[in-house]
Amino acid sequence: MNDSNALIEQSITFHGHLCPGLSLGIKMAMRAMELLGVERARDEELLAVVEMDNCAVDGIQYITGCTFGKGNLFFRDYGKVAATFSHRGKNAAVRLCFKPGATDTEEINRVRDEPGGKEEVAKIMLNMSAGELFVEKDVPPPEIPTAQIHSSIVCTSCGEAVMETRIVEMGGNPHCIPCSEKA
Ligand SMILES: [Zn+2]
Ligand SMILES: [Zn+2]
Repeated sequence: MNDSNALIEQSITFHGHLCPGLSLGIKMAMRAMELLGVERARDEELLAVVEMDNCAVDGIQYITGCTFGKGNLFFRDYGKVAATFSHRGKNAAVRLCFKPGATDTEEINRVRDEPGGKEEVAKIMLNMSAGELFVEKDVPPPEIPTAQIHSSIVCTSCGEAVMETRIVEMGGNPHCIPCSEKA
C-alpha cells in the first residue's frame, strides 16, 4: 500500500464510510496539494476555504490537515462542491470546482442504482483523474488573518467563560450570546 492509499483508507475510517462525496473531497485535496507543491498541514500554513458542508469536507480535512479545530478550514455557505486551497508561505492559491456532469459516465451509470452502488461509484471516482472531475483555476490567495488567542470573560447570567470577542454587553454587564438572546 503506498502513502496515498493509506491516506485514503484513513480518510474512510475518519468519515465513517466511503461515498461519492468523500471521494470528491479526497481527490480535490490531493490535487490541490500537488498543484501547490505542499504537504499535509501540521500547523496553519495550508488553508482551505470550502463552499459546501457535505461529505467532501471530511476528505479535505483529513487529506490536507486543514481542520475546523485548527482554524485553517473556512466555510462559505455557497452550496457548491468547490474549494480554494492556499499556502501562507507561497503566494499561491488554487480553486477546484466539481465539473457538472463529470460523474455521468457509462461506467458509473451502470452501477449507480445497484445495491452498494454508491460505494462502487465512490471507488470509480477515486480512480478518475482530477481533470475529469474538476475545473481548476489559479486564484488570488484568500485574505484570512491568522488565528488570534483571546482572553475569556465570565457571563453574568450563566457563569460560563466566553471568548471576549463573543461577549454581548447588556445593562453594562457581559453576557454570552445565548443568554443575551434569552433576555
Ligand atoms: Zn459520506
Ligand atoms: Zn451566559
